[in-house]
Amino acid sequence: MTEVERHNYDVVVIGAGGAGLRAVIEARQRGLSVAVVCKSLFGKAHTVMAEGGCAASMGNVNANDNWQVHFRDTMRGGKFLNNWRMAELHAKEAPERVWELETYGALFDRTPDGRISQRNFGGHTYPRLAHVGDRTGLELIRTMQQKIVSLQQEDFRKYGDYEAKLKVFAECTITELLTEDSGGQRRIAGAFGYWRESGRFVLFETPAVVMATGGIGKSFKVTSNSWEYTGDGHALALRAGATLINMEFVQFHPTGMVWPPSVKGILVTEGVRGDGGVLKNSDGKRFMFSYVPDVFKGQYAESEDEADRWYTDQEKNRRTPDLLPRDEVARAINAEVKAGRGSPHGGVFLDIASRLTAEEIKKRLPSMYHQFKELADVDITAEPMEVGPTCHYVMGGIEVDPDTGSATVPGLFAAGECSGGMHGSNRLGGNSLSDLLVFGRRAGLGAASYLESLDRRPAVSQSDVDAAARAALVPFDPPSDGVEENPYTLHSELQQTMNDLVGIIRKAEEMERALEKLAELKKRMRNVTVEGHRQFNPGWHLALDLRNMLVVSECVARAALMRTESRGGHTRDDHPQMDSHWRNRLLVCTVDGEDVTVTPEDQKPMREDLLELFELNELEKYYTGEELAGHPGRQA
Ligand code: FAD
Repeated sequence: MTEVERHNYDVVVIGAGGAGLRAVIEARQRGLSVAVVCKSLFGKAHTVMAEGGCAASMGNVNANDNWQVHFRDTMRGGKFLNNWRMAELHAKEAPERVWELETYGALFDRTPDGRISQRNFGGHTYPRLAHVGDRTGLELIRTMQQKIVSLQQEDFRKYGDYEAKLKVFAECTITELLTEDSGGQRRIAGAFGYWRESGRFVLFETPAVVMATGGIGKSFKVTSNSWEYTGDGHALALRAGATLINMEFVQFHPTGMVWPPSVKGILVTEGVRGDGGVLKNSDGKRFMFSYVPDVFKGQYAESEDEADRWYTDQEKNRRTPDLLPRDEVARAINAEVKAGRGSPHGGVFLDIASRLTAEEIKKRLPSMYHQFKELADVDITAEPMEVGPTCHYVMGGIEVDPDTGSATVPGLFAAGECSGGMHGSNRLGGNSLSDLLVFGRRAGLGAASYLESLDRRPAVSQSDVDAAARAALVPFDPPSDGVEENPYTLHSELQQTMNDLVGIIRKAEEMERALEKLAELKKRMRNVTVEGHRQFNPGWHLALDLRNMLVVSECVARAALMRTESRGGHTRDDHPQMDSHWRNRLLVCTVDGEDVTVTPEDQKPMREDLLELFELNELEKYYTGEELAGHPGRQA
């Protein structure tokens, strides 16, 4: 029998980013005992890196903003493939979640009359992003951690122990979800993992798990994502029997650093363009005016003068195409570089120096100023930045019920970047931080209701615990046949494959090659061997993460190959058009043993009152004639 440290909680939240922390707060406030587990240090989640802001239609800077406009922008950004109910809840609830953060102690930047200030971002009709300079994510995490401490202080007063009902397990990685078979259906019974420092195993017995593990970017070579983003939550959920959707939609942010090579991929916030920065090619041309796609024709400025006037007068002018949704800008940059009009290091230029004073730049974009000064020796107040696309966000994730966050396995909930549906084929900037708050809270609530409905707590079986421990220790056993494989080599080959063959522009033949390579890597994975002991052993940690990255990458590649159209974050060179017949179709991933299956499934049609928020002629760009036959505009 394996030696395992055991804990028992009502809810275990895996992930201490924005989504996880908001779920923790909600679940604890509903009276549940909660563990929050994170593989990095507490406070060092990916959310901390969020720069530009949190989208919420508070209407503080432009009173015309409201939830309907935000809903429309989000659906347009996602090319109408979004789960419309999630987009509705998100648009309606985001303002309250932002105001609520201020009750926890957050302090956003202010307008001159003292309200929360909001900035422009791509795809958002009005200034909508509540922000704290370009360090918004840090403030989000700081205040939610503060709220958690205050909840622990309340528990101390009641129980004499700060951690009586809410405990943080930092630097602890979950490797497996454990389930109980109940009448032929699996339901959550626990989570198994290890302490990164000691390598000792830990078991959480719990009927409810909220997955909040973030994204998958570390499967790609050039990425803005940090080391934690290895798709663990996606893979754990899959192995526990849950479904993933939209995995073909990976967002390549248009502006990552391209030089020097050691920092390639690090994000340059969209806030630079929101605050007036413009993209230029090597001829000095503001090229985005040539890349407004048909679906957005008429909505964006057609001259530089109009675009510039828009920054100060949004009533009479249309916004700059530099702020088109990210997928459009990333493709445009790609095309400029391909046409030989790129910058010296393979990107394009992003110029804020000629648009704002040095003082304004340092005040509005302090992190960007320091990032370029320290990492690239570039003074962005005096010269343009060189930027290019970088893998940034995954729209795909665990399929959830929009209202409760419950996945298809009872007891499993998901929120934040590891969940799927909300952003459709492409996420608008700023819509992630608001997503974390809205759906983190809802997942916490969902878990609380689930617990109330249980007549009995599921039990963890010892044989499952032993199997999870054996699986985690496999990399320490040299293979009985074949050569030993190094996890770092396999990771690097995986990143190169995903980058080159399932990257920003895709082709069937390349994705087929990627799938062959993934099959080879999966086979070689069985021979991955690590040296040393279980005490802090990064090679072993990577070997365990690699298993997750491989299965998630296969989901991305298989779904991308199946979707024979271009939409949002998914661009097919061999199927360059958007096809209305694909709009409503979800590609659902499941796993059986090591085999990934992708099955097309139709989404529920949008509720009529929401559909009526759009003009018929706009819907006609996305929907089939058949789908719109019942639209009042058609019947009239
Ligand atoms: P995270 O914040 O990443 O948290 C994931 C947590 O899960 C971490 O605590 C991690 O340790 C833990 N974890 C992972 N695997 C395991 C495991 N196996 N066991 C235990 N714990 C695990 N979005 C916006 O809306 N506005 C912005 O301005 C913005 N700027 C961004 C800037 C950058 C540089 C980047 C990279 C992203 C930005 N985003 C922005 C996107 C946004 O930050 C993320 O989508 C969001 O923070 C994800 O939050 P999350 O709570 O889902 O996950």
